Amino acid sequence: MATDSKKEMFRDPEISTASRDEIHSIQLKNLKNTLKHCYDKNEFYKKRIDESGLNPDKITDVSQISKLPFTSKDDLRDNYPFGLFCTQLSQVVRIHASSGTTGNPTVVGYTSEDLDVWAACLARIMYDTGVRKEDIVQVSHTFGLFTGGFGFQYAAEKLGALVVPISGGNTERQLKIMADFKTTVLANTPSYTLYMAEVAEKEGVDFSKLHLKLGFLGAEPWTEPMRSEIEKRLHMKALNSYGLSEVIGPGVSCECLVQDGLHINEDHFLAEIIDPDTDKVLPYGNKGELVFTSLTKKAFPVIRYRTKDISFIYEDKCACGKTFLKMAKPMGRTDDMLIIKGVNVFPSQIEEVLMKVKDLEPHYLIVLTKENFMDKIEVWVEVSEGIFHEKLMDLEFFEKSIEDKLYSAIGLHIKVSLKEPKTIARSEGKARRVWDRRQESN
Ligand code: ADP
Ligand code: ZN
Repeated sequence: MATDSKKEMFRDPEISTASRDEIHSIQLKNLKNTLKHCYDKNEFYKKRIDESGLNPDKITDVSQISKLPFTSKDDLRDNYPFGLFCTQLSQVVRIHASSGTTGNPTVVGYTSEDLDVWAACLARIMYDTGVRKEDIVQVSHTFGLFTGGFGFQYAAEKLGALVVPISGGNTERQLKIMADFKTTVLANTPSYTLYMAEVAEKEGVDFSKLHLKLGFLGAEPWTEPMRSEIEKRLHMKALNSYGLSEVIGPGVSCECLVQDGLHINEDHFLAEIIDPDTDKVLPYGNKGELVFTSLTKKAFPVIRYRTKDISFIYEDKCACGKTFLKMAKPMGRTDDMLIIKGVNVFPSQIEEVLMKVKDLEPHYLIVLTKENFMDKIEVWVEVSEGIFHEKLMDLEFFEKSIEDKLYSAIGLHIKVSLKEPKTIARSEGKARRVWDRRQESN
């Protein structure tokens, strides 16, 4: 039984069910404050706001933000490490950074008030899905410069829940602790969650006897069939949680128990969708690149930050009662989109097809090579134990039938190469879905 009330825990418990007009007026107030703050405290933003001719005091509607230029990952890199901070460094109490596999990492900072906002954003999401102080939350995201671990740690603590900050890796230990401590809530990436299921099977751990009820899974794209697989194998409900360090970390948006679209924490983040090629703002319902403006952060506010994530936003009378706009689960990033023989394809589209095929395991790798100067795409996917040993002769036929399915869904000939069970590398964090070998084969 829950003994605590939402009102005691959050300053603004009603906001997520407020009318659209109320939400707009809160956004407008917060947007003006943010723009003034950026203008006063940071030369880069001051110059940009001056150049746009927009007077933050005169804004009457949040849509006027479209007069301002976007902020890109390159802007963050060019101002590495602290150039876009909008408070004195002495007021910053925490730094996070994204992985930065290309060039400088992007560094973000938080004041202690920002940390409180962050925890409140995610705590509200968790509370609304029924997480209470009686819960035991196992945080299997990495702790470190990545925001996943600390984000869930502070949010769950804010709820008064018992947090197990186990971090990523050491899967046998994860399962032992899950069983011994009676973990009820898991915060993790979907790919690592599946790997936990696989190790559990090997170790004889039966999830139906454990206490997991809810998983907040995110930090990477995943599909509906992947969700079914996870829910079936771990005996819990799996919710899609989205965030990025530049905007705050996890807590930007998340599914409610209805599991149909991710409610955006709109009092803290203003979302737009743009056409990534023309940079034009698109009306609700159109697919494009997500752009966020933070509305309450102080140390590292972002104005029209281009996430590169592909999604669409829409209004929905959600059965959960929240009035916050929803975003569709991000299907991938513009820079993960593969263009093969002129066809645009996201790894998640391939996953969607593969996961619906019986006798395939949810472990795959897309391999890109070059043959006669042409891009070649192949997908390696594991077959289940049974079929590998029993039907060795039929594998070629099976491969062909999957290739046909991929062709009819995507319109591209993708070679399928079936692999023995447990031969494709597992992830204990964000999965790597593409192995680009095009440079090697030239
Ligand atoms: P890094 O660049 O080190 O991965 P972040 O942790 O900030 O740093 O990664 C954020 C990115 O992760 C997002 O921009 C998005 O591409 C991806 N991501 C996060 N959550 C989800 C999700 N639920 N679905 C799809 N992609 C996600
Ligand atoms: Zn809802």
